Amino acid sequence: MAKISKERKTTYYIGIGMMGIGFILFISVFFSAARFMNDPFVGGGPSFSNAVIGMVFMIAGSVVMNIGAKGTAGSGLLLDPDKAREDLKPFSEAKGGMINDVISNIDAIDQITNSKEAKEVIKVRCRSCGSLNDEDARFCKTCGKEL
Ligand SMILES: [Zn+2]
Repeated sequence: MAKISKERKTTYYIGIGMMGIGFILFISVFFSAARFMNDPFVGGGPSFSNAVIGMVFMIAGSVVMNIGAKGTAGSGLLLDPDKAREDLKPFSEAKGGMINDVISNIDAIDQITNSKEAKEVIKVRCRSCGSLNDEDARFCKTCGKEL
């Protein structure tokens, strides 16, 4: 079972941290705007740049998070299909597990249906010896008489 490396997990958490900082910066603009009663988008000033920095942080954070989760190739940063497959291995294996579960469920259903069919097989009793033969048999398997 492939695991996501420690470095990638760290990158993922850094990404979350960056998004958090960005979000706080972005939101703080609206609080300070309410406090000073000026429009941050028209008036410019430090609160407006905080919003931009906040947004940049959030976007960069989400990218870093994505790289951490899927790897450089898996997130599309590196154009290397082989590396991408390797990076996304933990995800495809999880998906494969789900598909296997579905297949085993289908197998179980198949077994139920088959056993039901087995019960419904019609037997034909031979008129001369009384032994049971398959429905489609032309001659009795015990005495050889025609059915
Ligand atoms: Zn018979």
